[in-house]
Amino acid sequence: MATTISWIPPLSRHFRLEQLAPGVWAAIQNDNYGHAICNAGIIDLGNKTIVFDPFMTPEAARDLKRAAEQLTGRQVALVINSHYHNDHIRGNQSFIPQAAIISTAWTRTKMLPSEKEEQEWEKKNAATYAIAEKEKLKKASGPEKKELIMWTGYYEGIAQSLPELKITLPDITFSDSLWIYGSKRNIKLVECRKGHTESDLVMLLPLEGIAFMGDLFFVTRHPYIGDGDAASWQKHIKHFIEDTSIHTYVPGHGSVAGKKEMQLMENYLIDIQNLVRKGIEQHVPDSVIVQQPVPAMYRQWWYSRFYKPNLQFLCKQVKR
Ligand SMILES: [Zn+2]
Repeated sequence: MATTISWIPPLSRHFRLEQLAPGVWAAIQNDNYGHAICNAGIIDLGNKTIVFDPFMTPEAARDLKRAAEQLTGRQVALVINSHYHNDHIRGNQSFIPQAAIISTAWTRTKMLPSEKEEQEWEKKNAATYAIAEKEKLKKASGPEKKELIMWTGYYEGIAQSLPELKITLPDITFSDSLWIYGSKRNIKLVECRKGHTESDLVMLLPLEGIAFMGDLFFVTRHPYIGDGDAASWQKHIKHFIEDTSIHTYVPGHGSVAGKKEMQLMENYLIDIQNLVRKGIEQHVPDSVIVQQPVPAMYRQWWYSRFYKPNLQFLCKQVKR
């Protein structure tokens, strides 16, 4: 990698900062009971400060806002939402009214009905799920225990934040692509249709060769496919691997990575589709296809609870 990576002491119990270039930081979710849940970014454009994906809770987002202000010496002007999922957007409210919020047009349209429905479910269930994860924790050990701690943080973060949540929609939307110009650097937002969701955006820093991928990219974790399109998603990943101007990829979940990990992500999408397609061709019932074990290559990955729903979803999608 061409850029120097240096470490900054943690400022928050919800994330750690990793500097990717001068004026560019990835904020990596703390899996040890943190409430950020997804990764974020802080970008200094020289004359304005940008935040990418402001976490799942207003509390974690307040820490992110403070970090961005300390690192760049000014208030945050723009907050970018990569897609509509709860863990990437609920920090929006901590940045207004000073900052404007940007997403793709499709994402903004989806956000309101999705949040209403999700929050209604969460009000009934999040606290119970947090208790259930804690119960499982008592009997767990090793890597399984570490992941259960993350899920406990997820449900506890939701349950604790619900009373203060205000659905905060983007102020600015775009389709296809959007350039944002600064005095020191420019960034390009690129819409990817039919990936992890119907519309995801990637933030490119062309001069530094860095891509903030949102949930189009998971590192050593099963991606959630059920709101997207695996075949089209794979093409997006392939495109960003083949782009020789990019060398550093910040995932929505997991550690900052390079082309090798992006290739693994593409392989996962190919392998899981092939697995389902093969079953369908051999007239194996869906109920049997979804019982297949995780391929050895991905057995150590977190979020294995997404694997069966992914197979279930693909059984329907591959047949269409
Ligand atoms: Zn997502």
